[in-house]
Amino acid sequence: MKAMGFAAQSATGSLERFAFERRAPRPDDVVIDILFCGVCHTDLHLARNHGGFTTYPIVPGHEIIGRVREVGTGVSRFKAGDLVGVGCMVDSCQHCKPCLKGWEQDCVEGSTYTYNSIDRQDGSVTYGGYSDSIVVRDKFVLSMPDGLDPAGAAPLLCAGITTWSPLHRWNVGKDSKVAVIGLGGLGHMALKLAKALGADVTLFTRSAGKEEDAFRLGADHVVLSGEPEQMNAVAGRFDVIIDTVPYDHDVNPYMPTLALEGVLVLVGYLGPLGTPVNAGGVVRGRRAISGSFIGGVPETQQMLDFCGAHGIVSDVEIIPIQKINEAYERMLKSDVKYRFVIDMASLKSQGA
Ligand code: NAP
Ligand code: ZN
Ligand code: ZN
Repeated sequence: MKAMGFAAQSATGSLERFAFERRAPRPDDVVIDILFCGVCHTDLHLARNHGGFTTYPIVPGHEIIGRVREVGTGVSRFKAGDLVGVGCMVDSCQHCKPCLKGWEQDCVEGSTYTYNSIDRQDGSVTYGGYSDSIVVRDKFVLSMPDGLDPAGAAPLLCAGITTWSPLHRWNVGKDSKVAVIGLGGLGHMALKLAKALGADVTLFTRSAGKEEDAFRLGADHVVLSGEPEQMNAVAGRFDVIIDTVPYDHDVNPYMPTLALEGVLVLVGYLGPLGTPVNAGGVVRGRRAISGSFIGGVPETQQMLDFCGAHGIVSDVEIIPIQKINEAYERMLKSDVKYRFVIDMASLKSQGA
């Protein structure tokens, strides 16, 4: 099946128009015409090979909203015309312990990611949502609840579930005090979701000037992380901290802000922390450092339904795909309010 998208051909090159082949649909596949795709910081990490495991060309994009064009003979959950979502995964083994629990993201055999991954049936490379269409196994296609703006809903498929999953795991509710580190794509969804769950919500940010937006997005308090006085004022306060910072950073200053048995959940940076964690800051107060990787398919559907019921979508800046390279540069400067979403209709217009 012919497809058109934008791809990076190397770690240092920009993303450019790229024609490629999608696999022919199988009986359990859904063929989706993509309407919108969110731009996640992971797309930038992978396009620029920050992890050292990118295969080129790469077509990024795992916050996909589209309409079903057609379904395979074995698919009964979807029909042509349905509004659907696709997140970070398109397949997994379906029989290991995590898969049976609905935690396909931690599939023992390795889940198949939406891009830069290998299709487990035919061995082809997967290409993501910066494109006009995608073919996805039905079990990994999400139903979109009625009434959500489709462009605003796209980032729920990664930023939404990645922050929802730890909030859910650590039982955040109306008696919880939650803090979020970093106001970007993940951070702004964490504020919205924690607030909707009833928590008292604080933003830690490096950036003076984000306060007004943070309050509008759901924060009750804002702490400038570079100001020791402000940090001291929140000592012993938080039950859960969601850390969305995408690069190496020192987590030690945040540990004293955790309450007794509080947990700091790393979701942003995946590499070695350059500054060793002071064990004393974890041991005292029965604190924990945890981590969380996207979320499973059932949990993603639960999050989407919650967002449908509460009218939650991302705050987006819609861009034509021709602006994707500029968007990456702005993302590196934290100049995003608060997620870029590509309008895929722009693929039809000419120009790099
Ligand atoms: P983003 O939109 O660029 O936001 C990141 C925010 O972190 C920035 O807005 C900034 O907030 C803060 N920040 C940036 N650089 C920093 C630095 N060097 N030191 C301290 N703070 C910094 O990124 P995103 O799309 O939310 O993604 C965040 C990270 O999560 C990325 O690394 C991405 O790969 C990862 N991710 C992980 C998962 C998972 O499953 N665990 C899923 C999706 C994404 P302030 O200006 O407010 O400080
Ligand atoms: Zn992502
Ligand atoms: Zn599995």
